Amino acid sequence: MSIKTFTEEHTEGYNLQWKIKSILHQETSAYQEITVAETVQFGRCLILDGAMQITVQDAFIYHELMAHICLASHPHPQQVLIIGGGDGGMIKEVLKHPMVEKITLVEIDERVVALSKKYLPEFSRSLEHPKVNVVIEDGFDFIAKHKNQFDVILVDSSDPSGPAAPLFSSKFYELVEAGLKDKGIFTAQIGSPLFELEKLKTVYKRVKKLFQNTSYYMASIPTYSTGPYSLIYGSKGIDPLELRDVSYLDGQTRYYTPEIHRASFALPPFIQEVLQES
Ligand code: SAM
Repeated sequence: MSIKTFTEEHTEGYNLQWKIKSILHQETSAYQEITVAETVQFGRCLILDGAMQITVQDAFIYHELMAHICLASHPHPQQVLIIGGGDGGMIKEVLKHPMVEKITLVEIDERVVALSKKYLPEFSRSLEHPKVNVVIEDGFDFIAKHKNQFDVILVDSSDPSGPAAPLFSSKFYELVEAGLKDKGIFTAQIGSPLFELEKLKTVYKRVKKLFQNTSYYMASIPTYSTGPYSLIYGSKGIDPLELRDVSYLDGQTRYYTPEIHRASFALPPFIQEVLQES
């Protein structure tokens, strides 16, 4: 077996390197370079434009945290929108909430969906569920056309370069706010507080202008191994620390619990300072 390496160039002075057993597929779609590979340690993975997106072994941390934090704090989530997330892993978690009636997934790149169906069945199986509607469109354009429709919007996008760049703009957050119903909740991954503190500040300011409750929450995820990884939470009046009874999730999650939910909002002073300054 020949083992190669994949290096994610993170900053000028910090790279992450993965041992790769084999490259299963590589192509350049209309939007990005897509690679599906078998890693030595973390199973199959999806790499977009040279950035590791998900691995079979540790994606549950990210998917469970993002989905359940929002769905457990919303009093009655029925209509859920996912922007990005064409692998299907986020849908898998949202489907664990029986009161959700419909999940709309808007992914810009049909090739991510097709390749996930072929190579990442652990995640993509959920794309076929009858509650799920998959739309191939730019998430920015989609949300611009849908007002007051969703209880929860999960932005499971890639980083702000290439097709995902508009998903970090003030205009996009305005459209997300308008797309949410009363008591609506929105979340998005926003990267590493250690390496991207300026991005955290900018996003926090933009979201705070629009949403009554704005917070950060964090987790450590080996795939995004820059220390803690952060997500933003914006809601129309919902306190993220007030949870519904989600005991139906018992035995269905490997990372999320109500205790982890609350603990994820505990922030170190260097991040609290960012929030106070904003
Ligand atoms: N969890 C991963 C991370 O944090 O690195 C991201 C998951 S990956 C599946 C993100 C997806 O967002 C990609 O499939 C990409 O094609 C999609 N995406 C990027 N820009 C988009 C846009 N403007 N509208 C909809 N989907 C977009």
